Amino acid sequence: MIVILKQNPNREQLESLISWLQEKGVSIHTSIGEAHTILGLVGDTSKLDIDLIAALDIVEDVKRVQEPYKNANRKFHPEDTVIPVRDTQIGGGTLTIMAGPCSVESEEQVVAIAKAVKASGATMLRGGAFKPRTSPYSFQGLGEKGLEYLKVAREETGLPIVTEVMDLSQLPLFKDVDVIQIGARNMQNFDLLKAAGHQDKPVMIKRGMSATYEEWLMSAEYVMASGNENVILCERGIRTFESYTRNTLDIAAIPVLRQLTHLPVIIDPSHATGKYWLVETLSRAAVAAGTDGLQIEVHNDPAHALCDGPQSLKPDVFDPLARKLLKLHAFVRGLDEGD
Ligand code: PEP
Ligand code: MN
Repeated sequence: MIVILKQNPNREQLESLISWLQEKGVSIHTSIGEAHTILGLVGDTSKLDIDLIAALDIVEDVKRVQEPYKNANRKFHPEDTVIPVRDTQIGGGTLTIMAGPCSVESEEQVVAIAKAVKASGATMLRGGAFKPRTSPYSFQGLGEKGLEYLKVAREETGLPIVTEVMDLSQLPLFKDVDVIQIGARNMQNFDLLKAAGHQDKPVMIKRGMSATYEEWLMSAEYVMASGNENVILCERGIRTFESYTRNTLDIAAIPVLRQLTHLPVIIDPSHATGKYWLVETLSRAAVAAGTDGLQIEVHNDPAHALCDGPQSLKPDVFDPLARKLLKLHAFVRGLDEGD
């Protein structure tokens, strides 16, 4: 971090700033120029409040040269994080395919879909028991019963389950879940992020619909700073001026996050587009761009789905897609390895 001082700073104020910074554990390199004096702060500046320093009388400007996230930062952790989940893993060269209904609607429904997606090559089962709906009149999910049905589907298929927690109070019910999902609308629910950081299971954070990469990575940082290193980032489309699609899929998130962080990246083409017929193309694009996995909504009867039918694939459409994606992934890995 670089602190540019105003001309002729008050000596006492300068000394107190320097000793305050030193108490915070950073060392300071002072460079005195003709017009300005510049303090170069070296060390862990992630806990310094940039706005507080910028507001001081003697300070002209403050610039960060290092990102405010440390645990999630690739600079401090160059190797990719690989997250084991039961018999599978997320990251480390595998293509994770999380598939399943938007909402768990009944035991029969979720078990049947789980069996179908497993047969097609999915490695995890998704399904919402607690649903964040825009309207209070829409189906809100089966709640605790939905979690029970997901566990039945896991027993029947062996597929680990990923499901969304909406509120702190629900966390005790998630003890048996394999991956906790924090939805786009909760990406900056900081108390929930901190509590997720105290869980002994992976947490997948979906990108808020207007979140920057840095804000998103700071959400991961919340979970990691509370002690949970197993964080997955899921891009699910952001809000832009375009209204033809439900959101706009930001494919650049894949290479950008690869550069900035060591955490695995998953792409959700279903919420990104809101249209089932766009899911295949965007899934292919994500695999070609090097995603660690996909989260795809699959429903046995999309026309009658209680949530997100228009973006859901029927099992017989998902089947050839999953097979093609696995082949494409193997091909892309071959390219990267120089085959
Ligand atoms: C979901 O995955 O069910 C969901 C609601 O997604 P998002 O939080 O990305 O809208
Ligand atoms: Mn959905």
